[in-house]
Amino acid sequence: MRTRVTKYIFVTGGVMSSLGKGLASASIGALLEARGLRVTFLKLDPYLNVDPGTMNPLQHGEVYVTEDGAETDLDLGHYERFTRSRMNQLNNMTAGRIYDSVLSKERRGDYLGGTVQVIPHVTDEIKESIRAAGQGVDVILVEIGGTVGDIESLPFLEAIRQFRSDVGRENTCFIHVAPVLYQASAGELKTKPVQHSVKELQAVGIGPDIILCRTERYLDKGIKSKIALFCNVDEDAVITAKDVESIYEVPLVFHTEGLDEKIAQVLNMWTGQPDLRQWEDLIEAQRNPESEITIAMVGKYVDLVESYKSLNEALVHGGMAVRSTVNILYVDSEKLEDPSVLAKADGILVPHGFGSRGVEGKIRAVRFARENEIPYLGICFGMQLACCEFARHVAGLEGANSREVDEETAHPVIDLLPGQEQVAEKGATMRLGDYPCSLAEGSRARSIYGRSEIVERHRHRYEFNPEYRERLEKAGLRFSGVSPDGRLAEIVELPDHPFFVASQFHPEFASKPFDPHPLFQAFVEAAVGHCSRKG
Ligand code: GLN
Repeated sequence: MRTRVTKYIFVTGGVMSSLGKGLASASIGALLEARGLRVTFLKLDPYLNVDPGTMNPLQHGEVYVTEDGAETDLDLGHYERFTRSRMNQLNNMTAGRIYDSVLSKERRGDYLGGTVQVIPHVTDEIKESIRAAGQGVDVILVEIGGTVGDIESLPFLEAIRQFRSDVGRENTCFIHVAPVLYQASAGELKTKPVQHSVKELQAVGIGPDIILCRTERYLDKGIKSKIALFCNVDEDAVITAKDVESIYEVPLVFHTEGLDEKIAQVLNMWTGQPDLRQWEDLIEAQRNPESEITIAMVGKYVDLVESYKSLNEALVHGGMAVRSTVNILYVDSEKLEDPSVLAKADGILVPHGFGSRGVEGKIRAVRFARENEIPYLGICFGMQLACCEFARHVAGLEGANSREVDEETAHPVIDLLPGQEQVAEKGATMRLGDYPCSLAEGSRARSIYGRSEIVERHRHRYEFNPEYRERLEKAGLRFSGVSPDGRLAEIVELPDHPFFVASQFHPEFASKPFDPHPLFQAFVEAAVGHCSRKG
């Protein structure tokens, strides 16, 4: 019997950050999957935080949560959206976690008194995490965060350099992503930054097999051969990664440039041509919408769209399903004094959030959606605040709030539940990852999902306080999704509203372009309806 050999693709980035390495990796995964291969991913992050869970979303972007409850880098979201792979604890490793593990081993005496060093101890730990993540697949894409030349990336680059000798040249492929900049005054594309960053890579012993050039315009043959010559790669290994309108075009652009063919050649793999019809149909549908709507997203981190990455994508997917272009209007909740600015929106979404800043603005947005019959979707904090708003203005519980926002509130509609004792270590009491939920017969949630039992991903500390359930129910709020034991509120909805649904969980993490999440699809559909009624 032939044993499966895992092939390893390493993706590095040069010159600057935000080159779209994550999307490039996800797109390569999509192409290889379309060629019939089983793929997975590993994101290696050079920072010293153990995981991104406690990092500021303004600096780091969204924290993506996996089914098994790992708080990870947002690139894992791209990986799951573009392929059938499922990410977990093993698929995101930070320098902090690597060092944590090395230091625990040192304290336990595992190194038998030896001197513990970056090479080999840290590099061995990195290589071990690569092997562990790559079990049982044909190809693993390992993306190295940061930029080549950074001090922090060095142990990771050294580890992947060694990896090539460990598993053999034909089982590894090094792809380097770097920008080719257009200089308007000279009217020329400049290749020097690419050359310099490849030199940096060569200085640590890695010669890339393929160079992905991020650029505004297609590179002609002349430029490609120049890059090939100076960077010591084949001419057909210089790939134009041109800016595109929709991220879902990237796999198609890469394929036209011959990227998957070149990878198959470098890795010495025999696979058929990829079947990309699904991707072509998707782009076709996206380019020819039948309607256009605007969703107002009322949040705190509106300055950095990256912190709502999965939500944005889930809205786009919902739009794809009903052939509608979804424009997102970011509204800063801290500045939302007069909610009538939301009247132009076809739907209002209050996303996840932490802390008390901007909360009253969010509550005003919920009230505006409820009273003006504008479709409303609340996600996590957006569900908790919908409960507070309803408690205050419909159930007559003045000052109702979440304990997180107001310690002294007379009506802690959202609270820590008994047994959730505060642990000093931040994050320790979070409900993370997949939890089951039962949907009530006859509810909107049940008809949206088309089934009675669902499983969704969570990331929160506070819960709806069961002591208030009856009072809110009497006033007209429906608890349409609850934990199987009936204790935790998972979805609330308003039966007498065109669309008012809010979930304690994060449906956006599970939405994919080919499999839009039902809640987002239903929300967008409702917004399209609202838009046509508005005229
Ligand atoms: N801050 C809230 C809690 O911890 C909501 C969290 C969220 O929106 N992800 O429960």
